[in-house]
Amino acid sequence: MTAAEFLPFALPDIGEAEIAEVVETLRSGWITTGARTRQFEAEFAAYTGAKHTLAVNSCTAALHLALEAVGVKRDDEVLVPTVTFAATAEVVRYLDAKPVLVDCRADDLTLDVERAAAAVTPRTKAIIPVHYSGTPCDMDAIMALAKRHGLAVVEDAAHALPTEYKGRKVGTIGDITCFSFYATKTVTTGEGGMVTTANDAWADRMRVMCLHGISKDAWKRYTASGSWYYEIQAPGYKYNLTDIASAIGIHQLRRCEEMWRRRRELAMYYREAFGQFEELELPAERPGTRHAWHLFPIRLRLEKLTLNRAAFMDGLREAGIGASVHFIPLHLHPYYRDTYGCKPQDCPVAAREYERLVSLPLYSKMTDAEARRVVAAVSRLLVRGRLNRG
Ligand SMILES: *Cc1c(COP(=O)(O)O)cnc(C)c1O
Repeated sequence: MTAAEFLPFALPDIGEAEIAEVVETLRSGWITTGARTRQFEAEFAAYTGAKHTLAVNSCTAALHLALEAVGVKRDDEVLVPTVTFAATAEVVRYLDAKPVLVDCRADDLTLDVERAAAAVTPRTKAIIPVHYSGTPCDMDAIMALAKRHGLAVVEDAAHALPTEYKGRKVGTIGDITCFSFYATKTVTTGEGGMVTTANDAWADRMRVMCLHGISKDAWKRYTASGSWYYEIQAPGYKYNLTDIASAIGIHQLRRCEEMWRRRRELAMYYREAFGQFEELELPAERPGTRHAWHLFPIRLRLEKLTLNRAAFMDGLREAGIGASVHFIPLHLHPYYRDTYGCKPQDCPVAAREYERLVSLPLYSKMTDAEARRVVAAVSRLLVRGRLNRG
């Protein structure tokens, strides 16, 4: 098999406008945080309807800033779903607080709010819902739980651009929302992130902390309208986004809807093509929501198959199809097992579902022929692996 025949699991969709804007930025003489980043923030606010937006260099940085701003401190507890990426829980450790891992619901693998409620203690300060794969969490129940216990709601929206919940865009629901523009995400700047909030004080705190705890950024300090004077208000971080990245982001965001329509079209094609297989469980769009379709995670009904997930993944690789698994639940990883004594049965639904999870390629640059190749390869494996053939 030649490299050209391999269908990657993810590919960015970069247009000529993004490339031209980067070149213009490079020629402009201002390449770090400046006018283009402020423009990206303004357009992101207009698109989502968020009051405050702050561009940062990753979603991980956004989550760290958010938890710091809402006042998470040493020995506090933060509720984190176990079905997520490393970043969601590690930021809790950055602040010497304790991530309390919570199981998912079986239907869409988002946070099980009843399990979260059962895990609340007097030390619980915040909860981080993750809109897994692009489908929104049960935000009404999460906001009610947070209100009951005085918790801050920091959303991990790394998969959730553009996700909607009951007519509202993610970015306008929780206390602070954190987006990712990592290379594989639905809108990318290579590396990057965005924070949104309606709270003025938290917005100010995050803006200061994202650049050394200094009260003005370099753009304001060094241009003619600014001054040389600055004050350090706290030992902050270095999380600002460059104008080179924002140049990409401005044009990616303008194509967000168009790229979403293509991913949705492909997702609907997968759903239709795989509908005939009782060996599969498929992701769905919940009523009253908009699914961002960042991922297309299927689940194998192992009791109906002779092959397990590993054999299925091997089969896809042999067919030249990139696939992945989202995610190995956090509570199964050595750090959480060894540090907090997590056992697989602490989050039994996640532990069980993980064994049969596979993410298929889904991105706007995929052609119809490529999508057909994925369907053909998956179908072949399922027919071959059927328990009761004939
Ligand atoms: C990608 C991802 C992140 C981290 O995003 P970065 O921008 O790479 O820091 C956080 N949470 C989830 C669920 C992710 O998938």
